[in-house]
Amino acid sequence: MSKGISPALQTKLAKLGIVEPDDLLLHLPLRYVDETRITPVRDLRVGEAAQVEGEIIHAETQYRPRKALICQLQDASGGLLHLRFLHFYPSQVAALKPGAHIRAYGEPRPGFFGMEMVHPQCRSARADAPLNEALTPVYPTTAGLTQPNLRKLVAWALQHGDTRETLPPEIPERLQLPDFAESLRLLHRPPPDASLESLQSRTHAAWRRLAFDELLAQQLSMRRHHARRRSQGAPALADKKTLTTALLERLPFKLTGAQQKTWREISHDMSQSHPMQRLLQGDVGSGKTIVSALAALQAIENGWQAAIMAPTEILAEQHYKKMTDWLAPLGVNIAWLTGAQNKTARNKVIAQVASGEAALAVGTHALFQEQVQFAKLGLAVVDEQHRFGVHQRLALRRKGEQPHQLMMSATPIPRTLAMSYYADLDVSVIDELPPGRTPVTTKIVSEERREEVLARVRDACRQGHQAYWVCPLIEESEALQLKTALETYEQLTAALPDLNIGLVHGRMKPAEKQAVMQAFAANETQLLVATTVIEVGVDVPNASLMVIEHAERMGLSQLHQLRGRIGRGSAQSVCILLYASPLSQAARERLKIIYENTDGFEIARADLALRGPGEFLGIRQSGVPLLKIADLERDADLLEIARDTAATLLRDHPQAAEAHLKRWMRRAEEYVKV
Ligand code: ADP
Ligand code: MG
Repeated sequence: MSKGISPALQTKLAKLGIVEPDDLLLHLPLRYVDETRITPVRDLRVGEAAQVEGEIIHAETQYRPRKALICQLQDASGGLLHLRFLHFYPSQVAALKPGAHIRAYGEPRPGFFGMEMVHPQCRSARADAPLNEALTPVYPTTAGLTQPNLRKLVAWALQHGDTRETLPPEIPERLQLPDFAESLRLLHRPPPDASLESLQSRTHAAWRRLAFDELLAQQLSMRRHHARRRSQGAPALADKKTLTTALLERLPFKLTGAQQKTWREISHDMSQSHPMQRLLQGDVGSGKTIVSALAALQAIENGWQAAIMAPTEILAEQHYKKMTDWLAPLGVNIAWLTGAQNKTARNKVIAQVASGEAALAVGTHALFQEQVQFAKLGLAVVDEQHRFGVHQRLALRRKGEQPHQLMMSATPIPRTLAMSYYADLDVSVIDELPPGRTPVTTKIVSEERREEVLARVRDACRQGHQAYWVCPLIEESEALQLKTALETYEQLTAALPDLNIGLVHGRMKPAEKQAVMQAFAANETQLLVATTVIEVGVDVPNASLMVIEHAERMGLSQLHQLRGRIGRGSAQSVCILLYASPLSQAARERLKIIYENTDGFEIARADLALRGPGEFLGIRQSGVPLLKIADLERDADLLEIARDTAATLLRDHPQAAEAHLKRWMRRAEEYVKV
C-alpha cells in the first residue's frame, strides 16, 4: 500500500481483502444511510430507516427485565420517540442526558410506549447544523477501522487509483451503462439526487456496470481456461467397441435414450487428443453408473487405466460390487481402495495399480493419496462430484499426465450457475429415468402421528417390502447424532418386534457398514435405520418406503437425494416426512417445495434461491471466491450479455480483455470450478 499507511492499518485492511490501493476502489458500500434530511417523528414509518432531530426530554437506565438505557426524544413538531440501548457506555449516558439536542438515525419499530428506535446512531447537533448533502455509504469493515476512516481511504483511492476504462466505449454505451470511473464515484459518493432505493437494491446503473464487469471477468477467465485445456494433450482413446459392446450385450437391460446420448458424447470426447472435462448430470436413479462403466471400458480397451472415486465408503463399495459384476466377466482386473483397509491389503492394491495389473481402481478419497501411483491413468471418474472439495478433485486429476475427467452429479445445476461457475465444463444430461419406475408419493406428517407411521412400516414390511427410517440430522454434534440414531434403533426394535431391523451410521467401521448394507440388500433385514449416510447413491430396489424424521431440519437437495433411494423398483413408493411442530415459515416453505416437486431441477432452483450459490455448490469452504457484486438471479440478464461479450472481446480487443481480467482477477484461476 501507499506511504503513510501504518502496518497496523495494513493488517486491518488485509482482513478486508484490501492489499493494493486499487482494491479500495472495489471495496464497495454494503448499504447507504440517508442523513440528507430530517423526518418529523410523526411521519416515521415502521421499518423505514430515517433521521430525526430533537431534544432529549427524559433518560433513565432500567435494570428490568434487563439493563437498558431508554431516552425520550421530542422533536420540533412535538412528536415523541423512544430510543432504546441495550449495550451502552457511560459516555453515551452523558451525551443523551435531558436537554441534549441530537440527531438520531435508525429504523423505527412499534414499541411498548409507541414508536421506538433500538440502537440508533446518535450525535449531538445544533438545530441549525447543516445536513449532509448526499447519501452516506456504509462499508464492510473490521474491528478498529471506523467508517469515517474507510471513507477517507476510499476518497484517496478515487483520486489516486487506477480508474481507467478497460472496455471499448461502445460496450457500456450499448448496454446504457455508465463508464467505470463514473460508476465508482457514484457508488462511493452518491450525488444528492441519487435514489436510495436503487442504490440499496443494487439495481442502479452504476451497480449494474460493476456487476457486469465482474461477470465479464469471470467469463473471460473461463474461456481462457477452456482454451488452455484444449491446447493440452491427452491420450486419444478411440471407441474400439470391443469391451464396451461386450458389456452392453451382457446387460440385463437396454440403455435409455438419454443414457445412449450421453454415452456417445463422452465416448467422443475421450477419443480426442485433449482432456475431456465433462459433467454427467442426471437425477437420482437415472443410471449414471453404467455410463461411467462404459467410459472406463473405453479407456481400458485402449490399454489405459481408469479410476472411479466416490465420496463415501458405502457408495464406493457399491460401485466396486457393480463394476465387479459388470466388468470382471470381461477379464478386467479391478482394484478396491479405501482408507479402512489394513496396510498389507492396501499395499498389495497399490502395487497392482502402480504396475498396471489393475485396469480399474475403485475407491474413496483414499485413491488420491500420495502413495497411489497409476501406471497409465487415462480416465478419472468422480461420482457425486459436489461432495468433494476442489483440491481433492484436482489431486485425482494429477494422478495421470492429463487424464480425461468425468464428473457425475445428481444435483442439477441451474442454468445461471452452469453459465457462471461451471462454464468451463461440458455438460451431458440424463433427462430420463429407466423404464418401470413409479413416481414416489410424498406425505408430510406431524410427529404426533408417529404411531400410525409405525403401523404403516410394519404393514409394508409384512407384505415383503423394505423400508428406510432416516434419523434426524443433528448438525451441532456428531456424538448427539449417534446417540439419537442408537435410541431410534432401540425404540423401533421395541415397537416392531416381528421385523429384522438394521442400523447404519457414519461412525461404524467400514466392514460393519458393509455387513449391514449387504443384509439389507439381501432382504435379510426389512427395516434399515440410518443416518443421512445413505443419502448418496445407495441402491436397493426392493425398498419402497422411507420415513424421514425431523425433515424440517434438512436441506432440500438432501431430502431429494434421500427420497431418491426409493422408487427404484416396480412397487409404489411412499416417502413420509415427519416434522415436529411448530414449523417455522422457512421450514414450511422448504417442505412444500419437496412435497410439490419430484423434478430435481425444480428443487435445485428453489434451493439455490433459498440458500445462495455458496452453500448450494458446497464451495464456501473450498476457497473458491464467489461473485462479490453480481447476483446470479438479479443480474441474470447481464450474465448472458457477459458471456457473449467475452467472446467478442477476446476476438476483437484482446488487450482490453487482458486489462479487464487484470483489474478484476488478481487470482483469476480461482474463479474456475475444477
Ligand atoms: P444414479 O444415476 O443415481 O447413480 P444408478 O446408476 O445407481 O443411478 O442406477 C440406478 C438403478 O437403475 C441401478 O440399479 C441400475 O442398475 C439401474 N439402471 C440403470 N440404467 C438402467 C436402464 N437403462 N434400465 C433399467 N435399469 C437401469
Ligand atoms: Mg450414483
